[in-house]
Amino acid sequence: MITVRVPAKVNVQLGVGGLRADGFHDLANVFFAVALGDEVTATAAEGVTLSCSGPDAAAVPLDDSNLAARAARLLAAHHGIADPGVHLHIAKAIPVAGGMAGGSADGAAALVACDALWQLDTPLPVLLELAAELGSDVPFALVGGVALGRGRGEILEPLAVEGTFHWVFAVAEGGLSTPAVFRECDRLREEAGTGSSDTDVPTPDADPALLAALAEGDPVALAAALANDLQPAALSLRPALAATLRAGTEAGALGALVSGSGPTCAFLVKDAEAAAAVAGALRASGTCRTAHATHGPVPGASVAG
Ligand code: ATP
Repeated sequence: MITVRVPAKVNVQLGVGGLRADGFHDLANVFFAVALGDEVTATAAEGVTLSCSGPDAAAVPLDDSNLAARAARLLAAHHGIADPGVHLHIAKAIPVAGGMAGGSADGAAALVACDALWQLDTPLPVLLELAAELGSDVPFALVGGVALGRGRGEILEPLAVEGTFHWVFAVAEGGLSTPAVFRECDRLREEAGTGSSDTDVPTPDADPALLAALAEGDPVALAAALANDLQPAALSLRPALAATLRAGTEAGALGALVSGSGPTCAFLVKDAEAAAAVAGALRASGTCRTAHATHGPVPGASVAG
């Protein structure tokens, strides 16, 4: 039996370029791995089967569409294993459809867990290629830490970070579909008259002030540089998130933003004490389902114990 811990991510910068002919957007995506994460346990079994526990378990598909099952099958196919056998149990703490790449995290964890269970010793560059095939956010869940993602987010460059940053995540009732949020982003750009194609919108790049704040371990500077081009679209689809962002800011957060495509909201705070206080204030505010205090960066998917 192999248990793998895998982090959720928050995008401290999510720059979204115009819509490309292939339907994707060019991104300048600074991923940050936080300790809030899932655990995926792989046990020898016949066929590929799944189970899931945790408060959001009912929202997780247990069929072949689950990224953990797809990862197991993809790894098996790569090694020519015709009839793979594994049971994968997902202990789910990452909000589902929350903009924290929970499904991608489970895909990365399943790659690592099955690789260990089946004693395949797949080199990391190969695991990264398989991860990119599964989805744009899966490679980052393998490497963790803080990284700049280009292209669709799958071309990763690790970034230097000093120390630990403290975060609070406010979990919303229900999820948001990532494709729907990108479509709303395009629609808002059309409505504003700026155009939404990759010839209208400049290719985004990482913000030097944000990179410096990370390298210096300066939470006040990082808070000032937090930026998410999908935030207006997430707020347009879910206007109530404005009250969540306000509640965390009023409770003392240094900075606030929607996490990825939302609807989870992320708050950067000064230290662990401030995290506990802001999480408590958010839970009491009635503007979210629950709130978690956590920290990062932490490593990517790795075998526990
Ligand atoms: P991202 O931030 O990468 O856009 P997200 O965090 O918003 O993703 P996920 O939690 O990854 O969203 O789930 C999106 C959808 O993916 C779910 O609604 C579900 O149908 C499907 N899904 C597939 N595998 C999983 C999994 N292991 N855990 C959760 N959802 C999964």
